[in-house]
Amino acid sequence: MSKCISILGSTGSIGRQSLEVIAACGMEVAALTANSSVEKLEAQARQFNPKLAVMTDERAAADLKVRLADTQVKVAGGMDGLLEAAAIPQADTVITAVVGMVGLRPTLAAIREGKRIGLANKETLVCAGPLVLEEAKDYGAQIIPVDSEHSALFQCLEGNRDRGEVKRLILTCSGGPFYGKTAAELQGMTREDALRHPNWSMGAKITVDSATLMNKGLEVIEAMHLYHMPPEKISVVIHRESIIHSLVEYCDNAMLAQLGAPDMRLPIQYALTWPKRVPGPAQELDLWNCGPLTFGAPDLKTFRCLDLALRAAQEGGTAGAVLNGANEEAVAQFLAGKIGFLDIAGKVEGAMEQVTVVQNPGIGDILEADRAAREAVR
Ligand code: NAD
Ligand code: MG
Repeated sequence: MSKCISILGSTGSIGRQSLEVIAACGMEVAALTANSSVEKLEAQARQFNPKLAVMTDERAAADLKVRLADTQVKVAGGMDGLLEAAAIPQADTVITAVVGMVGLRPTLAAIREGKRIGLANKETLVCAGPLVLEEAKDYGAQIIPVDSEHSALFQCLEGNRDRGEVKRLILTCSGGPFYGKTAAELQGMTREDALRHPNWSMGAKITVDSATLMNKGLEVIEAMHLYHMPPEKISVVIHRESIIHSLVEYCDNAMLAQLGAPDMRLPIQYALTWPKRVPGPAQELDLWNCGPLTFGAPDLKTFRCLDLALRAAQEGGTAGAVLNGANEEAVAQFLAGKIGFLDIAGKVEGAMEQVTVVQNPGIGDILEADRAAREAVR
């Protein structure tokens, strides 16, 4: 069970909910980091009194240093600061809750210190899954998923000693805000439409990914790496209610599911308390009033991002890094109002056609795939 935690990306949706869990469970905070939200980080630092507070933006770091001058908190900036927060000796656990591939180097830094990783930053696994997991094995670092679906799979796989008995992993998918819409209807969808998610309140990038269903595609690749399963043994089921967080089907056709209210504080907490469970702030699930649970197939023709991700999963090598880099860039363009909603899939597909995939990649190949994919989108 974790005692002292460093949170990378503490001002975001996952970061803030992690602090609620930490406060409720009486754990300590070693380091907090954010990109540029100085006021929020200052308030968090005053409340949780970490050893270190980091702003990746250097100007924001200078500002924070002045603001925290009356405290004992050390302030650092840039990628060096992020790496320092990841490797800080006081922390036994690092929650990776930054958004995007920028999380890769700090995640590796934490792994090399043998820390437990509460992994929210799925982009890191999509780009460099085999590399990250190999390092974790070498350094004896536990990687416990924070993503609700992967936490559900983790829980449903516990006690199963023989992975050969697993027939299939089934990821549930809410369908996002545009469930049931046709391609023609999706054409005119705006940033504001895409940011209105029915069941979860999350950061902007993942909310757009949930609208395109790219999020589920990234999650298939994340599950493939985390649980060493080939993509053909991972299915996606539309489950609008977000009550079942995912399922494991075994070779005797038994299915195990994990249920809970849609509340990220539960998977966050389990990543910190595993293998124990303790009472915490996550909402109770009221089975008598949660209504019927429904299941259906995803529409891969309309939501092409999911299809593209499944293709990248099949292709392997740097295909995940290309998919992810192109998607990060395309989503940023969509959020900036530069391209339409359906252009996101078009841009990602274009990059996948242009950039050559390398098998068994090293870190250099992954960074190059990411760079080339972003350039192709631009
Ligand atoms: P968010 O946008 O709310 O927060 C992101 C955090 O990272 C902020 O603290 C921000 O300051 C920091 N950050 C942003 N860009 C940065 C950069 N370039 N360098 C350093 N720090 C930077 O995002 P979120 O919704 O909390 O998601 C974080 C991660 O968790 C993502 O990888 C997402 O896919 C994953 N995740 C989120 C949820 C959720 O419910 N929000 C669920 C599952 C997985
Ligand atoms: Mg998820």
